[in-house]
Amino acid sequence: MLDLTIIPASGTALPAAPFQARHLIDGQWCDSADGAVSERLSPSHGVVVSRAAKGGKPEAEAAIAAARKAFDDGRWSHLSGKARAAVLLKVADLIEANVERMALLETLESGKPIAQARGEVSGAADLWRYAAALARTLHGDSHNSLGEDMLAVVLKEPIGVVSVITPWNFPFWILSQKLPFALAAGCTCVVKPSELTPSTTVMLGELLIEAGLPAGVVNIVLGYGQPVGATLASDARVDMVTFTGSTAVGRSIAAAASATLKKVALELGGKNPQVIFPDADLESAADAVVFGVYFNVGQCCNSGSRIIVHEDIAEDFTARVVELSRKVAFGDPLDPATQVGAIVTPEHGAKIDAYVSAARTSGARVALGGGVLQVPGLGPQFYQPTVVTHVTPDMAIAREEVFGPVLTVLTFRTLDEALALVNDADYGLSAGVWSENIHTCLAFARGAQAGTVWTNTWMDGFPEVTFGGVKQSGLGREIGRYGLDEFMEIKSLVMRIGRTREPWVRPR
Ligand code: NAD
Repeated sequence: MLDLTIIPASGTALPAAPFQARHLIDGQWCDSADGAVSERLSPSHGVVVSRAAKGGKPEAEAAIAAARKAFDDGRWSHLSGKARAAVLLKVADLIEANVERMALLETLESGKPIAQARGEVSGAADLWRYAAALARTLHGDSHNSLGEDMLAVVLKEPIGVVSVITPWNFPFWILSQKLPFALAAGCTCVVKPSELTPSTTVMLGELLIEAGLPAGVVNIVLGYGQPVGATLASDARVDMVTFTGSTAVGRSIAAAASATLKKVALELGGKNPQVIFPDADLESAADAVVFGVYFNVGQCCNSGSRIIVHEDIAEDFTARVVELSRKVAFGDPLDPATQVGAIVTPEHGAKIDAYVSAARTSGARVALGGGVLQVPGLGPQFYQPTVVTHVTPDMAIAREEVFGPVLTVLTFRTLDEALALVNDADYGLSAGVWSENIHTCLAFARGAQAGTVWTNTWMDGFPEVTFGGVKQSGLGREIGRYGLDEFMEIKSLVMRIGRTREPWVRPR
């Protein structure tokens, strides 16, 4: 008997008709010229929940042209920070007024629990408010000590047209980590959501119009990476691409952008470690480990998917994690009691299972789970909470992004050994340490190769605190003040005061 906590089908009524998602180009909603559409099946309920226009090169190019024109004529970039902030604040209010509607679609398309989707949509409103505040603080630098006849100022200007390409795991949250910051800077944008989760991006388009954003400032093109995403990454009229998704696609975007040397900001994958020392508050650590690995069914760039536990406590701590794992509510995403929902696609479910099988074959042991989860009344797209022990650092499950509810356990004896394991990774998104000794925590924070280090917590985030990865987890930063700076170009203005410039040409 599995002895897990499973929430069966709640019987919640699904919407009577699928959501219809269309492109937004130059202020107009439109279908694809060839009439192509794609349908999204709910991962948990297996029915069509949205029908989206499937764009091609013509739609992508028309959207880029609209964004280019809107940037160049200054309808948004020439507004004051105050005027831009007013629109962003209105959008935040509208998001809050639409949380229920948006959260439902987010859940139906992604499989995430409704309570979590509500939190993400309402939390995203705060990102829009924070970006609005930043819009009023834009400023550069001045140099008043270059000599009495010189003055220089460093101006910050919006970078221009930005392509915004987003993934399926946090469709609205990640969009809101990018778009309001680009808009606060004065940029215009072409947005391409994942083909699996287009609807909340389209709903946002409706709210942008309602908030009074000028036409053409934000354009939305629906469709696949090829050809829509690739066109947004390569077109010469685009000045910057901001992308969140897999490291493999991130590399192809950087390559596509290189021909025109446009700026690229990448938020990519992670294989994030948490290191647990014997002197830690082990109860809190175990709870955070369980949260870190099962949140969003592990389909999370910040998934705490590998723990590195001190040898002296490894057995007891793993047993504690297994016991807690049994209590996490997996099941119907539409039931508000559910904490962990469905896997995004059957193909992705098979990929997760293949990692666990390969680890088993290589000698690892599955202490919990390791197979498809049957949720009464729903389809097969669920996976059991899974804990894998006796893992060695060379196994794929210890090195690659599994992107599922699968925890791997490694052990260590000294801080140096723990740091060596942490840093023996292609990724460097986030890392965590659990210890009551401040010196241990600080030495760990200095030594860990990661964009974010958490001490005695996991995945706490704030709009004010910038986020991003090192190594193959990405380039650039999002949110916080640095997140705004990514969308700005720098111009130095050097001025002479008075006619003091010595002639360069000598008189003959
Ligand atoms: P993905 O890379 O498959 O797709 C992301 C987006 O890129 C989608 O919109 C997709 O249509 C588009 N795309 C695909 N091929 C493209 C191409 N050749 N050119 C341009 N665009 C293309 O990623 P996914 O499966 O949607 O998301 C999961 C991945 O995202 C994981 O690796 C995860 O770690 C990562 N992620 C990272 C962060 C972060 O902040 N670091 C956050 C969330 C997700």
